[in-house]
Amino acid sequence: MIELTNIKKIYHIGGQDFAALAGINLVIREGEFAALMGPSGSGKSTLMNILGCLDRPTEGSYKLNGEEVAHLSDDELAVVRNRHIGFVFQNFNLLSRISALDNVALPLVYAGVGRKERHERALQKLTDVGLKTWADHKPNELSGGQRQRVAIARALVNEPHIIMADEPTGNLDTKSTKDIMHLFEDLHEEGKTIILVTHEPDIAACASRQLLLCDGMITRDAGKGVVMDVV
Ligand code: ADP
Ligand code: ADP
Repeated sequence: MIELTNIKKIYHIGGQDFAALAGINLVIREGEFAALMGPSGSGKSTLMNILGCLDRPTEGSYKLNGEEVAHLSDDELAVVRNRHIGFVFQNFNLLSRISALDNVALPLVYAGVGRKERHERALQKLTDVGLKTWADHKPNELSGGQRQRVAIARALVNEPHIIMADEPTGNLDTKSTKDIMHLFEDLHEEGKTIILVTHEPDIAACASRQLLLCDGMITRDAGKGVVMDVV
C-alpha cells in the first residue's frame, strides 16, 4: 500500500520558493489501477518521481508497505525501488544493441541473479507478453507496440507488486495502444498495483481510479476504492 501524507516538493527558483507539489494526501491500496491526469506543469512527473522512489519530497511522509521512505538515502531508495516497483516509459528506454531477451534480463543482472535463471525468467516474461518468438531480435527490428511489450516484460521480471507507467501509449498507434492497455488490465486482474500517467481520457477510463492534479494539488479523485479481488 502507498500512503502519502502532506507531501510537498519545493523548488527554489530565482530566490523564490515554488511548490511543485503543495501538500498531497493520497492512499493507493494494493491492487488499485490509478490513472494520473493533469495539465503540463501540474506536477505529474514530480509526483511520479517521488512515488517511484526516484526523488525525495521536501516535506511529508511516504509510507510504502508500512515503511517510511521519504527520507532514505539514494542507495536505500534504490533498494526499495528494485524490491517493489517496475517502470514503463513513453520512449520504451530499451538498449538498442542487445536482444529483447537481454533487455528483459537486465534488471536481474543488477539483482545478482545467475545467467541461466536470468535467461529462463526473462523468456517466461517475454512469453507472457506474447513475444517468445521475438526474443533474439533487437529493439529496432520490433514495432512500437512490440517494443513497449518488451519494456513491460522488463518491468515485470523482478516480480514487483507496483507498476508505474509514464504515458506508456504516447508513442503508439491505436491498435498497439489497445494491446498495451489490455496488458495493463490483465496485470490489474492479477492483482498488481498500477499507476499510469496519461493525457488521454480514453486511457484513463481503463483504470479503476482517476486522479487529477492541478498546480501541485489533487483536485479530483474518482473511482476510489474500486479494487479487484485478488485471488
Ligand atoms: P508535469 O509532469 O505535470 O508536466 P512537472 O512535475 O514536470 O509537471 O513540473 C511541475 C512544476 O515544477 C513545473 O512548474 C516545473 O517547471 C517545476 N519543476 C519540475 N522540476 C523542477 C526542477 N528540477 N527545478 C525547478 N522546477 C521544477
Ligand atoms: P514531462 O514531459 O513529463 O511533463 P517536463 O518536460 O515537465 O516533463 O520535465 C522534464 C524534466 O525536467 C523533469 O525531470 C523535471 O524535473 C525537469 N524540469 C521541469 N521543469 C524544470 C524547471 N523549471 N527547472 C529545472 N528542471 C525542470
